[in-house]
Amino acid sequence: MTYLLFTLLFSCSSTLIKKENDNFGIVIHGGAGTILKKNMTPEMEKNYREALSEATTIGYNILKEGGTSQEAIEKTIHYLENSPLFNAGKGAVLNAKGKVELDASFMDGKTLNAGAITGATRVKNPISAAIKVMKNSVHVLLSGKGADDFAKKEGLELVSPEYFITQRRLDALKRVQEKEKEKKVAIVEDSEVMYDPFIKDSKYGTVGCVALDKFGNLAAGTSTGGMTNKKWNRIGDSPIIGAGTYANNKTCAVSSTGWGEYFIRGIVAYDISALMEYKNLPLNEAAKIVIQEKLTKLGGSGGVVAIDNKGNIAMEFNTPGMYRAHMNSKGDLDVKIYKNE
Ligand code: ASP
Repeated sequence: MTYLLFTLLFSCSSTLIKKENDNFGIVIHGGAGTILKKNMTPEMEKNYREALSEATTIGYNILKEGGTSQEAIEKTIHYLENSPLFNAGKGAVLNAKGKVELDASFMDGKTLNAGAITGATRVKNPISAAIKVMKNSVHVLLSGKGADDFAKKEGLELVSPEYFITQRRLDALKRVQEKEKEKKVAIVEDSEVMYDPFIKDSKYGTVGCVALDKFGNLAAGTSTGGMTNKKWNRIGDSPIIGAGTYANNKTCAVSSTGWGEYFIRGIVAYDISALMEYKNLPLNEAAKIVIQEKLTKLGGSGGVVAIDNKGNIAMEFNTPGMYRAHMNSKGDLDVKIYKNE
C-alpha cells in the first residue's frame, strides 16, 4: 500500500516537474530607425533578412530542445554580435575618438536577477559578460576596463579593440563629424543639443532578444555599441536594467532599441511590465501606450520587442522601420523590416 502510494505520488510529481509550456517563443530586434525601402539595395535587404532569420532559428532550436531562455538569448545574440551588419560586437558604431565602447545587459524573469556591462572595449561577446556579471558577481553593472578584466577572469574571449571596427562605421563617423563641424551646435526647441539632427536620422542598430522557454521562464538581453560620435563615456539605455532590458515571469520580457536618453527617462522596458502588473493590461496594449504615447510625447524614437508569459508578443516602434523577427513554438518564422509589413 505504502509502495503504491509512493509510486503514485512520485509519478504525479514527476509529471508536474516535466510539464512543459507549449507556448514557448523568441523575438529579436536588430535596431530601429529611419530604415526605408528606397534606401536599401535588394542585396542589403536580403542580408538583413537572412541574418535575422538565422539568429532567430538558433534561439528557437535551443528552446525547442528544452534549453533555457537564457541559453537561447545568449546564443542568438552571439550570432548578431558576430555579424558586422548590426551595432553590437563586431560592426559596433564608433565613439568620437573612433573607438568602440560596448554595452550589454541581461535579465532573468524567474529570479529578477540581472547583469550588465558598459564601456567595454575587448570582450568579444558583451552579452556573455553581462550574463557572467549576473551569475558570478554580487554586482549588476560593471564598467570600462573593469568589465573587460572581469570577463577575462570568467574565461570569456577577449579580442583586440580593432577587431570590432568596420569600414562602414568609420565612414559613418566621418559623415557625422563633418556635419557636426558645419553646424557646430544645433538648436532644438530652445535647447542646445550637439548631435540631435544627426541622431534623428539615425538607424539604431542595437540587437536584442527576448524569450519564453518551455519551463515558463522569461528572459531578455540587449547588446550595443551605443551611438555614433558619442562622447565623454556616454552610456545609453541598453545596459540599464528597466530602460533597455527587463524581464519578470509575472508579466513579460522586453528589449529596447532607439535614442537611449529617452528610453532611460521613460524607463521604457520596466514601464511596459508595470502596466501589465499593476493595471492588468495585455502586452500589446502596454507596449503601444509606452512607445506610441509616452516615448513619442517625450520626443524619443525607437522601439521594443517583447514576449509575455503566455507567448504573446509585441514588436512596437515609432520609427519608419525596425529589424525584427519572431518564431513561435510551432516554428512559424516572421521576419520584418519596414513599418507596413
Ligand atoms: N539604444 C542604444 C543607445 O542609445 C542605441 C540603439 O538602440 O542602437 O545606446
